[in-house]
This record gives sequence, C-alpha cells and structure tokens, in this order.
Amino acid sequence: MPVSEFDIIQRYFAGAGSRRDDVVLGVGDDAALLRVPPDRELAVAMDTLVDGVHFPYGTDPAAIGHKALAVNLSDLAAMGADPAWATLALTLPQPDTDWLEAFARGFSALAQRFGVQLVGGDLTRGPLTVTVQAHGLVPAGRALRRDGARPGDEIYVTGTLGDAGLALRLLQEDIAVPAMHRDFLVARLECPQPRVQAGMALGGLAGAAIDLSDGLLADLGHILERSGVGATLWVDRLPRSTAFRETLEDRPGLEVDWDHLPLAAGDDYELCFTVPPSRRAALQAALGGLDCGYLKVGIVEEETGLRCLHDDGSPCVVGAAGYRHFG
Ligand code: ADP
Ligand code: MG
Repeated sequence: MPVSEFDIIQRYFAGAGSRRDDVVLGVGDDAALLRVPPDRELAVAMDTLVDGVHFPYGTDPAAIGHKALAVNLSDLAAMGADPAWATLALTLPQPDTDWLEAFARGFSALAQRFGVQLVGGDLTRGPLTVTVQAHGLVPAGRALRRDGARPGDEIYVTGTLGDAGLALRLLQEDIAVPAMHRDFLVARLECPQPRVQAGMALGGLAGAAIDLSDGLLADLGHILERSGVGATLWVDRLPRSTAFRETLEDRPGLEVDWDHLPLAAGDDYELCFTVPPSRRAALQAALGGLDCGYLKVGIVEEETGLRCLHDDGSPCVVGAAGYRHFG
C-alpha cells in the first residue's frame, strides 16, 4: 500500500528531536509558532545536501540525516548560538520506508543530543535533496561574527583538520588502509560532530569565528576579508589526527598534495576563531574541558593577505592546481 505524504510526516517527522516548552505549535499547522526570549537574538542557518554532490550515491541514510542537521548546527556553533529548532525540506525520488526510517533516526538522534525540536518542513518528489534550516538563540549583541578579528589576535582551531578530505580520497580512489583508521576517517566525513559547546563557550571571548566547511585557507580567508586584516598561519602546527598522520606515513608514494588536506580540504566542521592574547587563560578555562581540544595555529596581522609558513620559516606554497582540486 502506498504511503501518503501525511503518513510519512506523522510517522517519521512529527515527533523528531526534543520536546521543547518554547514551541507553541510544531508540525501540523500551516506554520510553526516559536517563542524567542526578549533578551535573545535568533540565529538562522540553512544548508542543502544533494545526492551525488554533497554525499556519494548510496550513502547510509542515517548518516545523511545526521549530516544534514550537523552542518547547520555547525553554522549555529560558529555564531555562538544555542540550537533550538529546525525545519526540514525533503525531496525524495520515491517514498522508501526503510530509507525514511533510517534517515529520521540519524536526524532525530543528533537533534535530541542538542535539544533541537523539528517544528516543520516540506516533502516533495524529485532527485534526493535535503535542506535543513536550524534556529538558535544567542544573548543579544554577543554573537560570534566574521568581522571581529584584530591585529595581534591569535588564531585557533578546534579538533583536527583534513580527516574528512582524506576519507573522501580513500573512498573515491578505493585505497586500502587499516580498518581502524578507515572507520575513524569515514566517520569524520559522514558523521561530523558540530562544535556547539565550544561555540557557546567562546561567547564574549572570541573576536571572530567561522566553521570550517570549505577548508581552512578559504574559511579563514573570509574572517580576514570581513575584518580587513591579514594573518600568518604555521602550517606544520595544524592539528592532524593519528589516523591522518599514520595513513600518510604508511604511504610515502602518495601525491604530495595530500599533505595539504588540513589546509585546503573541506567538510571538517571544526571551528576557527580569533582571541586576543590577553584572554588566553580565559580561553583555557572555557575550552580546556572539552573533548575536541583546540590549538593555536597562527596570528592576525595588519598586513592583508594570508601567509603560510613552515616552522623553519620557509613559505608553504599551496599550488593553484592543488587548491582548485579541493575547492
Ligand atoms: P502546507 O501544504 O500547508 O505547506 P504541508 O502538507 O506541506 O502543509 O505540511 C503539513 C505540516 O507538516 C506542516 O506543519 C509542515 O511544516 C509539516 N511538514 C511537512 N513536511 C515535513 C517534514 N519533512 N518534516 C517535518 N515536518 C514537515
Ligand atoms: Mg498550509
């Protein structure tokens, strides 16, 4: 028996995520009604994932559900916002109940972890496309923006860089690596963990912040441009995971540009942010307890442009070809 649109919404989405007191009206009417406290600003982010473009055909639907929400929560994290609500526009080739069940499970598990309620959406037939809009609350005037970096500020990133980019290469080129490393790297690509706690803890501390979706060079570039400043980046100090380092060490024959993945590859969903050196101790107090860790990778300067240096002082040249390759 074919399932109706109404059945799908009721069965898989009406109860997805957390139950929140500030939802006056959720799924089921013409629009949701949400209560925003008077001392908060509403942060709104939206991202679309397209089958075969943002994830390979045949990707586990639970991972798609997770990632569609995760990339939006990552945007909220980069604003220092506390995630609250989400809406979901889903375009499906056909109503496959196994697919829907797994997708809703992946979406809902992440939503619950961050106290997010799914409050509405849309359902249409067509090539598989997932659009999520996420809404978060941030104390008025305290959001982390891209335009607040100042000369002398230190540049930090959370977590490790390049894992997702390496995973994509391993999948595309069907390269064998030890299962332990492969599982870790593929999880970094398919199930990114939005750095929500870190983003919220950076409120009042960071001058500027962005989440890393297009690669550190490109995304830090946005901060520098918006802030009207430049920077030096110490490329040898970028945080690399054990799986990343050992995978590259084991394969000396790998293309040299793989080494540039932590700089240029996308899909890391870590945070990059700037903090004045005077707030170093406060930063440690705010982020020191978090699992993801954080590391200083550069310094903001008055001279515009981004200078990438090795520890011996020599410049690191990321070739135009390498750059476009990942861009
Ligand atoms: P309308 O035609 O008035 O836009 P719909 O029939 O599209 O209403 O949707 C009915 C209700 O179900 C609305 O509250 C809508 O927000 C919700 N909804 C539709 N699709 C989804 C979805 N994929 N996830 C969550 N809620 C959905
Ligand atoms: Mg309507």
